[in-house]
Amino acid sequence: MNKKSSSQQPISKRKFLKQSSLALGAAVFASCSVEKDKEVPLVNLNSNKKYKWKMVTTWPPGFPVLGEGCTRLAEWIHQMSAGRMTINVYGGGELAPALETFEAVSSGAAEMGNGVSYYWAGKAPAASFFASIPFGMNAQQMHSWMLFGGGYELWRELYAPFNIIPFLGGNSGVQMGGWFNKEINTIEDFKGLKMRMPGLGGKVLAKVGGTAVLSAGSEIYTNLERGVIDATEWIGPYHDYLMGFHQISKYYYGPGWHEPGSILETIVNKREFERLPKDLQLIIEAATERLTLWCLSEFEAKNNIYLEKILAESQVQLKSFPSEVMKTLQEYTKEVYEEMAELDPMSKKVYNSFSNFSASIKKWSSHSERLFHNLM
Ligand code: CA
Repeated sequence: MNKKSSSQQPISKRKFLKQSSLALGAAVFASCSVEKDKEVPLVNLNSNKKYKWKMVTTWPPGFPVLGEGCTRLAEWIHQMSAGRMTINVYGGGELAPALETFEAVSSGAAEMGNGVSYYWAGKAPAASFFASIPFGMNAQQMHSWMLFGGGYELWRELYAPFNIIPFLGGNSGVQMGGWFNKEINTIEDFKGLKMRMPGLGGKVLAKVGGTAVLSAGSEIYTNLERGVIDATEWIGPYHDYLMGFHQISKYYYGPGWHEPGSILETIVNKREFERLPKDLQLIIEAATERLTLWCLSEFEAKNNIYLEKILAESQVQLKSFPSEVMKTLQEYTKEVYEEMAELDPMSKKVYNSFSNFSASIKKWSSHSERLFHNLM
């Protein structure tokens, strides 16, 4: 599991110059990697015991990207373990209801699960910070926080009382703001709006007079079609197209201010994980990181194609939220964070870690990513 790495500490000029004098370019990395290998004991493959696990998910069976990614994860783990580990993947409702994935893994009814941490905010309010953080960080920055900013340690501390170890399990990248049947011109337009909106974004929506509805993916289309909800957010053009929202909505708004880089999670029952030989534990960790890169890249590669399809095949109008609306939502978001921090000590701890890291990394981004994006 990830521990705070020495790479978090600024490297001394002397050490850097010494390394640089040994070699140039890629050879520097080669020398680092050899040095690291000497320090890390090799894992003993001391067991041929076979493990058969169940993985429950919050996704409908065979769901593109999200459920599909879980199936790939199981295949990778099977291959990487030379067949010693088999994981059967179940869609939401097949073995446990979608929104009971966390309980199923916590109790050991399933050894593994996949979903999004904001679904479990009712059990641990701080869980929301490990999924989507409104006006927070993008995927790249979120992953940096997890691996090098203390995010992983806090996430594991939060889930420990539930006998669960969380791992990264995908990332959506910047999402879209959602599907509406009326225009959003001022903040007043959110008043009385019933919108499917999970996580912290839902709390912000409530602040501006809307009603946030949390529903599993399989129920959203029907709810929107029947008027149970007035609007919905989901992910981005690729997945939203497959969900069919363009067939029953007039406006498609961006950006997804509420989910700028949502982390998906793979959760593992702690007791079962600790029973595994070390090499299988490492295989699970490596495979979940592969899943994260696969998922983020899959969304990024297809969103543009499907945005064009949506616009070509429907009457949907693509719109951006007015900047005044964004500004107001951002102000309310800060209020939501502060209220959470006041009510729940763990939320305070996670929020402090997140906001300190976010403020620091955004200074760097303003001199790099932001300038680069302006050229595109
Ligand atoms: Ca979403």
